[in-house]
Amino acid sequence: MNKRRIFLINSLVGVGGALAAMAVNAAPEKAKANNTVKTLDEKSQKAVALGYVTESKTKDQVCSNCALYVAGENKTGKCGIFAGELVAAGGWCKAYAKKA
Ligand code: SF4
Repeated sequence: MNKRRIFLINSLVGVGGALAAMAVNAAPEKAKANNTVKTLDEKSQKAVALGYVTESKTKDQVCSNCALYVAGENKTGKCGIFAGELVAAGGWCKAYAKKA
């Protein structure tokens, strides 16, 4: 193998390694972005449309015992109705469906 060929192979391996390192480093950034999901504002148009409130008026109907609620951190969770935002565990909306 001549010097030129060795140089080319080393260059390609170097580029591949750099790309792999970038991909590995990008993964934690994506995870960080998921941890910064904002909490649903009950005054937003979609929240108002479904009567969402952060504090339910009834103790037996709250987001935390709704079939659409997936518990998260800090008394918030994900809801299929309000994808991309977090709802309060003690919240409620007109789409409430008791967890089986
Ligand atoms: S559907 Fe309504 S009550 Fe159920 S988790 Fe979502 S926001 Fe809460």
